[in-house]
Amino acid sequence: MQNKTLDFHMTTTCNHACIFCSEDDRMKLYAKHPLTELQIKTILVDRAKKWFNYVNFTGWEPTLFPNFLKLLKFAKTLGYTIYVGTNGTMLAKPEFAKEFLEYVDVLSLSIHWFNQDSCVAQVWDEGHYARFRDIARNVTQYKKSHHYFQSNIVINELNYRHLVDIAQNMMDMGYAVNHFLVSYIAPEGLARKHYKELSMDYNDVIPYIHALRDFSRKNNKELRIFGIPLCILGADYEELSNDTYWKERNTIERFTTRDGKVTLVDIYSPDNSRERVFVDKCTDCKWRESPCTGVFEQYLKHYSF
Ligand code: SF4
Repeated sequence: MQNKTLDFHMTTTCNHACIFCSEDDRMKLYAKHPLTELQIKTILVDRAKKWFNYVNFTGWEPTLFPNFLKLLKFAKTLGYTIYVGTNGTMLAKPEFAKEFLEYVDVLSLSIHWFNQDSCVAQVWDEGHYARFRDIARNVTQYKKSHHYFQSNIVINELNYRHLVDIAQNMMDMGYAVNHFLVSYIAPEGLARKHYKELSMDYNDVIPYIHALRDFSRKNNKELRIFGIPLCILGADYEELSNDTYWKERNTIERFTTRDGKVTLVDIYSPDNSRERVFVDKCTDCKWRESPCTGVFEQYLKHYSF
């Protein structure tokens, strides 16, 4: 059966918390925007009846959601395959990690750094690097054969020269990773405001992507790239473009409007364009539409393409 995918953005519309917001900022935002447990459960039940079978919990830090383990258990009893995108905060506790992995099938940890300094520069949390050692140990200890572990590496000006260092370091710290997802920074949330400072010319990144591809092959890891068009990556990356594997989905978010009203939105995304556009050179491109959805509009403002 083909997956029908449901995303819950647990807190806000921005998904680059690790790079731009301190833990305090994140929790202030979190306090304003959470979906409630009852809202999520109600939607899970409704969509299970409509044959949705895959659920993603993402957005800021889902493990901090109150009663998150109960919620995961509930989703599991409804038959969902469960994906969680997280920086792993609560997984530093062994008992939490153990129960979490009883329900979760795919774990995606955000890891954009390769040592204490690069971690602090991007996460703004002095304790996160040491905490990650506990997170890696706990999830690896409780990993079973059906689990699939990813790392989400958002590349930005601070880290793009160190992709292999990032991959090697997470393995050295004990994370039993199966798959590296490397995402060129998307102009969303706070990243839109700071796009010029955080982004870089695609061509500058390519040598480091090639190095990570070689590293991944050597270490028997999967690699996927998001946000860099195939005309830049090259034809031999066709199977490595994350867009090739993207599936349509519904995303549930709750936010407060400027006039203070709380709104629940259900966004159907038939493609993964995320503010990417086609330009003249796309006209006759064989990758146009599938898998490529173009280049970020914001990117075009700062770089030639
Ligand atoms: S569609 Fe455009 S951006 Fe995408 S690979 Fe082709 S030329 Fe590049």
